[in-house]
Amino acid sequence: MMLPHFWIALLVVFSWNVGVLNASAGDADPRYRVCVKGCEETGCVGERCFPHCKFSSNGVSVDGPWYMQEPLYLRWKQWDCQSDCRYHFMIDREKEREALGYGPVKYHGKWPFKRVYGIQEPVSVVFSALNLAMHFHGWLSFFILLYYKLPLKENKKAYYEFASLWHIYGLLSMNSWFWSAVFHSRDVDLTEKLDYSSAVALLGYSLILAILRSFNVRDEASRVMVTAPLLAFVTTHMLFLNFYKLDYGWNMIVCVIMAVAQLLIWAIFAGVTRHPSRWKLWLVVVAGGLAMLLEIYDFPPYQGFVDAHALWHATTIPLTYIWWSFIRDDAEFRTTNLLKKAK
Ligand SMILES: [Zn+2]
Repeated sequence: MMLPHFWIALLVVFSWNVGVLNASAGDADPRYRVCVKGCEETGCVGERCFPHCKFSSNGVSVDGPWYMQEPLYLRWKQWDCQSDCRYHFMIDREKEREALGYGPVKYHGKWPFKRVYGIQEPVSVVFSALNLAMHFHGWLSFFILLYYKLPLKENKKAYYEFASLWHIYGLLSMNSWFWSAVFHSRDVDLTEKLDYSSAVALLGYSLILAILRSFNVRDEASRVMVTAPLLAFVTTHMLFLNFYKLDYGWNMIVCVIMAVAQLLIWAIFAGVTRHPSRWKLWLVVVAGGLAMLLEIYDFPPYQGFVDAHALWHATTIPLTYIWWSFIRDDAEFRTTNLLKKAK
């Protein structure tokens, strides 16, 4: 079978890519560094001054009521100031580079994006919001099918044994896309950690779900046995990222392994099962694997807006639709089977 080789190659290229990503050409430029440092100290670049940089020498806001003197508020202001300064010089440097005929370079690990109404990556924000909407639609239609269209047990519960697992999946997905939209609109330490943590939680959970559904694990004890070690690992990893070190390289490896593992499980399941909707599984697995290539062949944003990462978020929108349609089919398929057996 060629599929595992493909995934291993993908993993190798992924981790190599992370190593390259850590050193950004843009912010390594000494001129850029000196300019940003000066800007953060004085809050001004020539004639132009940034309102977020209004601090007195001891770091306290110069004017404003008491709540504007609060430490948290001041930290936000400092983040805004730093971000405004960096953005200003990045745009400046990029204009110079363009005039000299050079292509864009990365700054602090990121491509130079043009802001729209202060939103850092508007295209990624829009696609994240669409993914969120798609998950909401998918989950809602799943809910309606389960409780209003399919027959229910006497205790008003659904026959489908994986119902509550998919409900949690829907919630975690929507949570993850919400923080993705927030993170792409404002990239600071806090929003970054929230985005990464929710993505890790979703990936870990969907791996558990992939195992439970494809191996048809139905009794409580076996479910706990599968879930406990994975949940422990995912929790430790999240604590590590949030309170010890946000290690991008290591996190990328963990995420890729969890993603590849569940795609492989679904692929094998699709290969052996007689499930009527297995073609939907194939479609999601193959297209999902191809979409991951977009994260590897990372290219600079076209016109300062659409980069590979944004396109990657775009591809998951139709895939989400197909995915929820598979989940609905599965609920219907399992329910019919159970009722047939009962007769
Ligand atoms: Zn993203």
